[in-house]
Amino acid sequence: MKLLILDRDGVINQDSDAYIKTLDEWIPIPSSIAAIARLSQAGWTVAVATNQSGIARGYYDLATLESMHARLRQLVAKQGGEIGLIVHCPHGPDDGCDCRKPKPGMLRQIAAHYATDLAGIWFVGDTGGDLQAALAVDCQPVLVKTGKGERTLAKPLPPGTLVFDDLAAVADQLLS
Ligand SMILES: [Mg+2]
Ligand SMILES: [Zn+2]
Repeated sequence: MKLLILDRDGVINQDSDAYIKTLDEWIPIPSSIAAIARLSQAGWTVAVATNQSGIARGYYDLATLESMHARLRQLVAKQGGEIGLIVHCPHGPDDGCDCRKPKPGMLRQIAAHYATDLAGIWFVGDTGGDLQAALAVDCQPVLVKTGKGERTLAKPLPPGTLVFDDLAAVADQLLS
């Protein structure tokens, strides 16, 4: 299957160091929404794996997170696309879970859901944790310069990391 996995904050929507705590603070990157719709129309399944430790920290609740994801689905649908499985890690850094990136648990959840292999699947993110999670399960690490991407670029990247300006450029490449 043509499966693409995305990080959320800094890839699909604007990132915030102060966490994205309300629906109003969830601000989509328009070209990323369009990119997801284009990929979907071309037969790609687009899934999302997102760390949301703000839940463990008590900054927002699951219902609020789900309202952001409902908005995301609605925006992609408006452009004739569809977004696939969205998995989130609600845990904090000290909870010892196996889903919080850089651990690859969410990528495994997505692979299990679609009964597919992860080898070579592109995982697009904006932080080192995303790239490490990708490497841990033999996905292709892909860095975008949106969100924390420029900051991440200033540090050494895992070998073989692909770098694009934004998700629109990733879609251009996959659809070319
Ligand atoms: Mg991110
Ligand atoms: Zn977790």
